[in-house]
Amino acid sequence: MPNIVDTSLFNRMITLRREIHRFPELAYHEEKTAELICRELDLLGIDYQKGIGNTGIQAVLGKQNGPCIGLRADMDALPVPENTGLDFSSNTRGVMHACGHDGHVAMLLGAAHLLKKTEGKERVVLLFQPAEESGNGAVAMINEGCLQDIAMVFCGHIDIHYPVATFTVDEGLICSYTDPFTITIQGQGGHAAKPHEAVDALVAASSLVMNLQTLVSRSVNPVHPAVVTVGQLLAGETHNVIAHKAVLTGTIRTAHKETREHLIGSMHTLIQGAAKMTGTAMELRLHDGLPAVINDKRSCAVARKAAYAVAGEKNVFSQGAPSLGGEDFSFYQQHVSGTMIRFGAAKKESSGPAHSSTFDFDENVLSYGASWLATVARLGAQSLSHR
Ligand SMILES: [Zn+2]
Ligand SMILES: [Zn+2]
Repeated sequence: MPNIVDTSLFNRMITLRREIHRFPELAYHEEKTAELICRELDLLGIDYQKGIGNTGIQAVLGKQNGPCIGLRADMDALPVPENTGLDFSSNTRGVMHACGHDGHVAMLLGAAHLLKKTEGKERVVLLFQPAEESGNGAVAMINEGCLQDIAMVFCGHIDIHYPVATFTVDEGLICSYTDPFTITIQGQGGHAAKPHEAVDALVAASSLVMNLQTLVSRSVNPVHPAVVTVGQLLAGETHNVIAHKAVLTGTIRTAHKETREHLIGSMHTLIQGAAKMTGTAMELRLHDGLPAVINDKRSCAVARKAAYAVAGEKNVFSQGAPSLGGEDFSFYQQHVSGTMIRFGAAKKESSGPAHSSTFDFDENVLSYGASWLATVARLGAQSLSHR
């Protein structure tokens, strides 16, 4: 593995990553993480403002006025109990960095080290963002004006599907539209032995779960990726009482605007029919979801150039089909030019998938991520000055 940052910085990033991994914090509770970031920025003599969008931090290098480059890292962990056996495992029961955001923070701090060394007049804004997993951290930061003066914004996500020292860079849509939903089913409770006197919400819910599976398979163009997942079904109190109410929660993922609208429409129709058929009252509520991550041409060209510079052209490829995962980086892209890439981070020993209790990544990715972030900031600043 070539040494692309010096050993002391690599070791520093590992220390930071492991410290963050040890005390994972859920969305909007990233207080210790924010303290750690501030400590490192103080050490580097980088100006920052904390408390942006609750627990976020905005740091600034360079003093030049006018349009500048933004780099973003997300800070939050997940409500997942850790089972990796790592000696720096989570100290907080039921909470774990299972998406690699510990690595993202360490990399952006690594990039801060690199950018500080060559700090010129060009301004670079570092955005340490809370609450990516809950989906509103980016919005909270944007509402507090974090994008003011930022002309192009970049981020990368650790991805264990690809080997270390590789990046995926794609123009266009790379992460899907995300629409979380809740369906409430109201029936009539009763004695388990007298179904004719009741309206069973649990049976209605069960058949609805199965019918929802036909939306994608039977009504969506098969070449357009889409998923309807029901992740939760709550119903019933005990074995001998017919459930009066059931609640389903789930998510719709799509990669095309038209598929998204079509699926939401079909879901309303299906639910109306299911309610009629089962004699229950059903209500579908759609919650605030995420727009798709769509990398625009201009920022993507800069991201690609930076990836070539760091990993070499042959180690930069396409992720292929869009991921049906969501990412709230998309909110920044609603306002400014922006690109998200993936940092290859596969571990030699197998680890569980992202969001699982055994997720881990190869820490060598920290050097590549930090180098790419620093490089994309420099190349981005150059491209702004050449406009
Ligand atoms: Zn995640
Ligand atoms: Zn993530």
